[in-house]
Amino acid sequence: MTQRESNPFSASEDNKRYLTYSYYLKKRFGCKVFKVPLNIDLGCPNRDGTKGTGGCIFCSAKYSGDFAGDPCRDIERQFNDIRARMHKKWPEGKYIPYFQAGSNTYADAEFLRPMFERAAGFENAVGLSIATRPDCIDEAKADMLFELSRRTYLTVELGLQSIHDRTASICNRCHTYEDFLYGAGLLKQRGINICVHIINGLPGESREMMTETAETVGQLGIHGIKIHLLHVLRGTALAEMYERGEAPAMTMEDYVQVVCDQIERIPEDVIIERVTGDGARSELIAPLWSLKKFCVMNEIDKELYRRGSFQGAALRWR
Ligand code: SF4
Repeated sequence: MTQRESNPFSASEDNKRYLTYSYYLKKRFGCKVFKVPLNIDLGCPNRDGTKGTGGCIFCSAKYSGDFAGDPCRDIERQFNDIRARMHKKWPEGKYIPYFQAGSNTYADAEFLRPMFERAAGFENAVGLSIATRPDCIDEAKADMLFELSRRTYLTVELGLQSIHDRTASICNRCHTYEDFLYGAGLLKQRGINICVHIINGLPGESREMMTETAETVGQLGIHGIKIHLLHVLRGTALAEMYERGEAPAMTMEDYVQVVCDQIERIPEDVIIERVTGDGARSELIAPLWSLKKFCVMNEIDKELYRRGSFQGAALRWR
C-alpha cells in the first residue's frame, strides 16, 4: 500500500496528515492565497519599558518580523511590491495583508482602525492577519476587531509560546498564561479567529511540557496554530545563554518527535499554519539544520506515516 492510499486524514490534497493553511485557504477562496507581511513599526511593550525591557530572549532586532516590509514605506507600497512579484507567478492568486513585526495592536483602537480597514481594502485582498501580544488586546480593540471581522476574513495571531509561566519568565515574556487567556477570551467572546504561536525548544522545557502546551491551546476553540522551533539568533539574550550552555538547541530528531506528538493532540479542524519556523539565515546561530525547512517538514510527514497517525489522532483514540 502506498503512503497516499493509506492516509487516513482527508483534508489534504498533497498527502499531508494535518490541516495546512494552504489547503484551508484554497478550499475557502477557491484559489491560491498568499500572506503578505507588512511592517508598521508600533514597537512592543516588552521593549519600551511598559511591560519589560530587552524584549523576549529570542526576539531579533527586527521584532521577530525578519521578513516583514520596510516600516519607512507606506503599507500599500509594501503590499503592492510583494503582490506584483507573486502576480507574475500566480496571476489568479489572492492576498492576505499580514501585520507581522512587533505588536500590531500596541496603539489606541481609533489609531489602528483606519490602518487595518485600509489594508483590508487593498487590491485582491481577501482577509487580514494581525499579530500581537495577548496583553495588547482590550475591550475597545476587541470591539474594533470584531467590526473588522464582519467585513473580512480576519485572524488575530497571538504570541503565547508556552503555557508554562516559569518558561515565560525565563524567556522574559512579561505576561502570564492567565494574561493570554484574558486577551484570547476578549477575541473569542466576539467570535474573532485566533491563531496561537507556540515555540518548541524553549529553555528548561521537556517534551511533555511542549506537548502539553499544544494540547491545552488546541482545546481553546482556536482557528489556527503556528508551531515554531526556537532559533538562536545573533545579538539576542538567547545567543548569550546558548554560548554559556544554558539553552541547548534541539536536535532535528527530537523536534520531529515533539511536533508529531503535538499534531496528534490538536483537533482536526484547527489549521496548523506552521510546523517549523523561518530564521533569517544570516542571523541564525543554531540549530543550523532548521535551514533545511522542507527536509524538516518531510521528516514530520514521514514520522506521522511511520506511526500510522494524523492530526487529532490521540484525541480520537481516547
Ligand atoms: S513580544 Fe514579540 S515583538 Fe515583543 S519582544 Fe517578544 S517576540 Fe519581540
